[in-house]
Amino acid sequence: NQSLASFDPDVARLLDAELARQQTTLEMIASENFAPVAALEAQGSVLTNKYAEGYPGKRYYGGCEVVDEVEQIAIDRLKQLFDAEYANVQPHSGASANAAVLHAIARKDDTIMGLDLANGGHLTHGMKINFSGRLYNVVPYHVDDSGLVDMEEVRTLAREHSPKVIIAGWSAYPRQLDFAAFRAIADEVGAYLWVDMAHFAGLVAAGLHPSPLPHAHVVSSTTHKTLGGPRGGVILSNDPEMVKKLQSAVFPGQQGGPLEHVIAAKAVAFKMALEPEFKDRQQRTIEGAQILAERLLADDARKAGIQVLSGGTDVHLVLVDLRDSELDGQQAEDRLHEVGITVNRNAVPNDPRPPMVTSGLRIGTPALATRGFGAEEFREVADVIAEALTPGDLDVEGLRKRTTALAERFPLYPHLTPFTS
Ligand code: PLP
Repeated sequence: NQSLASFDPDVARLLDAELARQQTTLEMIASENFAPVAALEAQGSVLTNKYAEGYPGKRYYGGCEVVDEVEQIAIDRLKQLFDAEYANVQPHSGASANAAVLHAIARKDDTIMGLDLANGGHLTHGMKINFSGRLYNVVPYHVDDSGLVDMEEVRTLAREHSPKVIIAGWSAYPRQLDFAAFRAIADEVGAYLWVDMAHFAGLVAAGLHPSPLPHAHVVSSTTHKTLGGPRGGVILSNDPEMVKKLQSAVFPGQQGGPLEHVIAAKAVAFKMALEPEFKDRQQRTIEGAQILAERLLADDARKAGIQVLSGGTDVHLVLVDLRDSELDGQQAEDRLHEVGITVNRNAVPNDPRPPMVTSGLRIGTPALATRGFGAEEFREVADVIAEALTPGDLDVEGLRKRTTALAERFPLYPHLTPFTS
């Protein structure tokens, strides 16, 4: 029973290095966030030792009386958070939640429709070599020239292909989807509507984005993006006919023993999301993204070849279009990395550059909002980004100083002690 530092100094040193990296740089990957210390504690607990196949009160293992209560708290809080009749907190990740959803509502070779990957969809929505693309017949839909999901195309394709499932949800899209319109199309062709709210769940929980629950047959989500909890997945529904299918699709359909330590951390995150400060944080998240979009729409940025897909944002991210820039997505990502800002390059629709290079960036604000950033700080970050994305010599020292100053103004995990000293 030695400590991590004494038993395994190699791993301890790397965990400390990652803490330092997170503390000293500005995290703007749209799918990332900082889980609260209370959630880290719950996840690093003895619950990792417990097998609990089944569900609270109906387990296949003894000794589940404590984890039953933990899981039930997580379920109850999640139902309250999204005003849902049914919640499953066991999926290990967003991808496992999505696998379970498809397992519940479709069979091999059924037709599914999802937003094309290159247009902002997720791997699990039908990408060719993902399980979703291999097991099902995928008919992708797209965004139009203005960067918005083309609902006319969705309707036309749905009528033509009679899909079993229509997926509404995205990994890289800066606007809100019209869930009622999706449901009307699904009803017209007899399809299930599945909404994957992984990215925008935090905004929904805060009441700052329409909820898909009243419209969808089933909703899946991750718990670690805007929602700000531990890495994981969940499934929700308000349709009583879905409950049995979804329960058995998760266990035993997709998974064995649930990760009760992660479920405990999810419960902590749901409690946090139910508190009034959470709404303030999500408000700063959206405002920060809007400040960034505006800055990148300014004349000097336009002259530098920068465009903003769809002309702005309603959510927690901005999609930067660099098709007219000398810089490609990889170079832009590297330049921001050099000045202390972490983002990811991202293909834009009809991207002329290869997928490993791309002509775009996806920049998100949830992690910085969690750190405490408000409008003033987001204006400063937006300025640094605009400068770094202007082709030519990069003032690494000057810009790095500005990002370091921001990071120091909002200390991250100030009370966490490194494993090694
Ligand atoms: N669904 C959407 C819309 C996502 O963006 C993601 C992650 O990027 C996932 C599902 C998968 O989540 P995970 O990485 O936890 O498997």
